[in-house]
Amino acid sequence: MKLTHEHKQLVQTTTQIIAEHINPYVDEWEKDGIYPAHQVMKKFGEAGLLGIGKPEEYGGLDLDFSYEMVFSEALGDIRANGVSTSIGVQTSMCTPALAKYGSDELRRDYLAPTIAGDLVGCIGVSENSAGSDVAQIRTTARRDGDDYVINGSKMWITNGVQGDWICLLCNTGEGRGHYNKSLIIVPLDTKGVSLSRKLNKMNLWSSDTAELFFDDVRVSARNLIGEEGRGFIYQMEQFQEERMFAVARNIRVLDVIIEETSDYTASRSVFGKSVRDNQVVYHKLAELSSEVEAVRALLYSTAERYLEGEDVTKLASMGKYLIGKLAMKIPTECLQFWGGQGLMNENYISRAYRDLRLTAIGGGANEIMLEVIAKYMGIHPGKG
Ligand SMILES: Cc1cc2nc3c(=O)[nH]c(=O)nc-3n(C[C@H](O)[C@H](O)[C@H](O)COP(=O)(O)OP(=O)(O)OC[C@H]3O[C@@H](n4cnc5c(N)ncnc54)[C@H](O)[C@@H]3O)c2cc1C
Repeated sequence: MKLTHEHKQLVQTTTQIIAEHINPYVDEWEKDGIYPAHQVMKKFGEAGLLGIGKPEEYGGLDLDFSYEMVFSEALGDIRANGVSTSIGVQTSMCTPALAKYGSDELRRDYLAPTIAGDLVGCIGVSENSAGSDVAQIRTTARRDGDDYVINGSKMWITNGVQGDWICLLCNTGEGRGHYNKSLIIVPLDTKGVSLSRKLNKMNLWSSDTAELFFDDVRVSARNLIGEEGRGFIYQMEQFQEERMFAVARNIRVLDVIIEETSDYTASRSVFGKSVRDNQVVYHKLAELSSEVEAVRALLYSTAERYLEGEDVTKLASMGKYLIGKLAMKIPTECLQFWGGQGLMNENYISRAYRDLRLTAIGGGANEIMLEVIAKYMGIHPGKG
C-alpha cells in the first residue's frame, strides 16, 4: 500500500489533536474513570476525522479505506486505550452498517451528527449470556404497529454511560439464529432504557463501559437499519472494520511500547552497562519489532484487498488473532526489562500492559478468530 502526502497530512492532523487535546489530560481521565467523550469527539469531528470513509452528503470525507486505516493507526499514539477504543467505536464499530444500509432519514438523524462529533454512538452486540456466541443473544424487538418494542439487556457497552444512541442487535423473528436478527438504532434517552451500572474494569479506565437494560422500549420502525432479518449478516460485515481497527491502533501502541522500552533500558545502568546492551535484551526488542512489522504488512495487504471490494473476513480475523497474541506477549516481555519501574502506574508500560489484555478477548476472542479462519479455510468440522 502506497502512502501519499494526503495520508501523511491526515496522520499529522490526528497526531496534533492527540498531542494538544488528549495526551496532556489522559492521566486525569484515567483517575476519574471517564473521559469527556463529547468534547474529544467534537475536536475530531471538526477536523473531519470521524467520517473519513463516510459519504460527503452526511459530512464525511468520502475517502477510501486506506485513510481510515492510517487514522486508526495514528490513534495508537493516545496514551490510554480507553480513549482510542471509544473513538474506534464511533468510527469503525457503530457506524459502518448505518452508513452502508441505513435509510436517508436515519443517516441524516444519526450518522451526520455522529460524524460531526455532536452525538456519541455505541455498538450493542454482547449480552451477559452471549458474547462469543452472538447468535444466542436474547434481546428482542417485537413489531407493534409502526414501532418496535424492545426488551432485553446488553453487557460491556463501550460509551454506554455517555453515549447518545446505540446500534442494537436484537431478535426480530423466531427463525434461524442468523436470519432472525436486525440492527436497530435506539436513542439512549428513550423511556425504558436504563443503565444498571458503569463497570469497574482492570483496564481502559477512562472508557465508560456499561450494562444497559431495555424494558418495553418503543422506537419507530424507521430506526431499522436496512432490511429486517439481515442484522446478523450486517454485523458480521461490520466486524471486518472493527477487527482492522483493532490491528491498526494496536500496532502503533506496540511500536510505542518497544520504543519506550528501548529508551528506558538504554538509560538504566546495571552491572556497569546499560540494560539494553545485554544481548538478550536487544535481541528481544529486535524480535518483537519484527513481529509487529509482519502484522503491519498483513494489515496493509488486507486493507488493499478490502479496497478492491473483497470479503476480507479471513484476513482481518488472522490480523486480529495475531495482534491479540502480540498484545499479550509484547507488553509482558517489555515490562520485564523495566524491573520495578514497570509496575509503577506513572510509567505508561504498566497501563499498556493492562489495557492491551483486552485485545485477545474483546470484539471476538482469539479462539473465535481461529474458528472463523478455520471455516474460511474449509477445515472446520462444524456446519456453520
Ligand atoms: C472493556 C470491554 C469493552 C467492550 N465493548 C463492547 C461493546 O462496545 N459492544 C459489545 O457488543 N461488546 C463489547 N465488549 C464485549 C466483548 O466483545 C466480549 O467480551 C467478547 O466478545 C467475549 O465474549 P464473552 O466475554 O461473553 O466471553 P465468552 O463468550 O464467555 O467466552 C469466554 C472465553 O471462552 C473461550 N471460548 C469461547 N468460545 C470458544 C470456542 N468456540 N472455542 C474455544 N474457546 C472458546 C475464549 O477464550 C473466550 O475468551 C466489550 C468487552 C470489554 C471487556
